[in-house]
Amino acid sequence: MSYGNPCLRHKIVLLPGDGIGSEVTNAAVQVMKTVAENFNVTLKFEERLIGGCSYEKFGTPLTDETLQACYDSDAVFLGAVGGPKWEALPHQLKPEAALLKLRKALGLYTNIRPAKIYNALINSSTLKKEVLQGTDFIVLRELTGGIYFGNPRGFDKERGWNTMEYTREEVERIARMAFKIAQGRRKKVVSVDKANVLEVSQFWRNIVHEVHKDYPDVELSDMYVDNAAMQIVRNPKQFDVILTSNLFGDILSDIAGMITGSLGMLPSASIGNKYALYEPVHGSAPDIAGQSKANPLAAISSVAMMFNYSFQMQKAAEVIEEAVERTLAKSYRTQDIYSDGCSLVTTQQMTNCVIENFNEIFNEQALGVFTL
Ligand code: NAD
Repeated sequence: MSYGNPCLRHKIVLLPGDGIGSEVTNAAVQVMKTVAENFNVTLKFEERLIGGCSYEKFGTPLTDETLQACYDSDAVFLGAVGGPKWEALPHQLKPEAALLKLRKALGLYTNIRPAKIYNALINSSTLKKEVLQGTDFIVLRELTGGIYFGNPRGFDKERGWNTMEYTREEVERIARMAFKIAQGRRKKVVSVDKANVLEVSQFWRNIVHEVHKDYPDVELSDMYVDNAAMQIVRNPKQFDVILTSNLFGDILSDIAGMITGSLGMLPSASIGNKYALYEPVHGSAPDIAGQSKANPLAAISSVAMMFNYSFQMQKAAEVIEEAVERTLAKSYRTQDIYSDGCSLVTTQQMTNCVIENFNEIFNEQALGVFTL
């Protein structure tokens, strides 16, 4: 029994980066290979340096060759960059500058972060179980426009200023992305703005409603950002897809991420019209690098997002997600999510367990199809 199309070949550029970046990327690649074997697709990998390790070798955190490899890819997978060794470098040479340059160069205008509750971790959240149970939504944040990029910007002794600006094209393309993604989910988009105070938000709202006319099967509502922040912690179950601008999304995606548990659990995708980049939300964690303590689940869930959004292999993504859920249900925990009575495991042991569960679920489901 096999799913997928054996003719399908995907080129994935791996950018492990610094610190635990290489440890979690190694875990992610093992899961990608398991998917490829089971779902009958061919994955071709090309590994490149980025961040501090690239600076050490080439004197820049992002070389033209690495960027070109990303342009030639079907998807990019990134571990993490940065570390104390490179903190004092000038801004443009810092490892983190490579990320901003990469996102801009690849035109990755949408950042997607899921907020999904794993039943096995529900008690480690700061919110009540009854509030959290069944929570499963995503935050779509506009990533290459808005106040973080607007001009004029600056400050002097008496004044500081920034510009929040959106063009029609910028709002239209992310609104389309939100409605399309919602069509594959529960078909509900909440567009978050501050239209009662900001003209740019009124403009955002108008365009989102215009685009919505092309997606009548999706329900659209508007919410002010202050209310949205409150609603995410009051009743997160009400959301399916939250669509919002760069600044509001920066804040809301962190709130949404943290209600569901640890930093080591949070995946992300950054998508544009031609390219896509998948990465765990966490950084290079220099405090635990090289100690086999890194939680690989954020990276592994980022792999699920890659199969879903870049390769349209929703079934593979579902099996990965279920394998993560089953691993947690069997009480395997890395140090960051450990609680009494659970089994403390290394990065590789956790990865092995996810792969075992993946194969188990795949076989169960293949048998189910076979016996129909
Ligand atoms: P961090 O995310 O690296 O670590 C914060 C804390 O969470 C640490 O205690 C770390 O041990 C823990 N942690 C993070 N990921 C974990 C995982 N997978 N498993 C277990 N524990 C985990 O954030 P930081 O310490 O503020 O930053 C360290 C470096 O990473 C800095 O140079 C920062 O600029 C960089 N950074 C990079 C990215 C990125 O590459 N996208 C994101 C954030 C920070």
